Amino acid sequence: MTATIIDGRAVAKRLQGEIKASAEQYLASAGSAPGLGVVLVGDDPASAMYVRMKRRACERVGIISEAQILPSASTQEQVEAAVRGFNADPRIHGILVQLPLPDHIDDEAVLNEISLAKDVDGIHPSNLGRLGMRGREPTFTPATPTGCMILIEETGMAIEGARAVVIGRSNIVGLPVALMLTNANATVTICHSRTRDIPGLTREADILVAAVGRPEFVKGDWIKPGAVVIDVGSNSVPDPASEKGYRYVGDVEYASAADVAGHITRVPGGVGPMTITMLLSNTLKAAYNSIEG
Ligand code: NAP
Repeated sequence: MTATIIDGRAVAKRLQGEIKASAEQYLASAGSAPGLGVVLVGDDPASAMYVRMKRRACERVGIISEAQILPSASTQEQVEAAVRGFNADPRIHGILVQLPLPDHIDDEAVLNEISLAKDVDGIHPSNLGRLGMRGREPTFTPATPTGCMILIEETGMAIEGARAVVIGRSNIVGLPVALMLTNANATVTICHSRTRDIPGLTREADILVAAVGRPEFVKGDWIKPGAVVIDVGSNSVPDPASEKGYRYVGDVEYASAADVAGHITRVPGGVGPMTITMLLSNTLKAAYNSIEG
């Protein structure tokens, strides 16, 4: 292996220390802690686990978290009302709707209900739209892409002028990370399921972000020697050797990629810890915005 590991856990721990100190200052000046409101609909075990992880992370840094847990049979109106309740609650500065929502719920309508000032997930169409418009600043940028950008910056590589390839164009990862790289003056190619010759494109990339959702999709010989490789994927694959019977792998075949890349993230321990950290950071920012007007 030649690549330097970009340790997302270590970066996240450092940043959470800074967030904790800043949350304490906020408490001292505002008289109450920053607050995150989480809306969870249904009983999907993975979603419930993500919500628990977010609550524990909030506790660690001194952010209050309050969850509205609704049954899967909830109506559109009930889910939207939960969001409006958090919009109106002055103790809550940031709102997170845990996705996916049940099929019968129109998630776009629910996300549109989130007050822009509380959109700490950064996925309100207005925030995403501003991210893509020259001269406009979103109030919040989405958590996972922001975490990716920080990890790229950690390597010390100049993003300006670099050639970047993002595999994936989802609203929550691929598209915003491509916009953020463009805003940082990289030259960006977005690949998706209809792209021809992805390996030919990735071999030109100084920065490669894989957000595909396919286990070990990117192979070592797709990577330009010395490239920065950010693996967003989080895919559970069967593993009889593990106690749980499964393990998580990324969208990059780590063993072969680490022989070629200059810097690489691992799964787990790369982008995942950064996602939660950016949610905490945005919640703190929302709290400060609320007292600064
Ligand atoms: P998604 O909404 O399913 O999007 C996947 C993207 O990959 C789509 O744009 C799709 O193209 C593209 N794609 C799928 N198959 C492809 C193929 N064979 N060749 C080229 N492109 C292909 O997934 P997502 O929400 O962006 O998540 C991506 C991965 O990141 C998942 O593993 C997810 O679990 C993980 N994730 C991790 C975190 C974290 O905090 N670590 C956070 C969010 C997501 P089309 O647009 O053409 O369909």
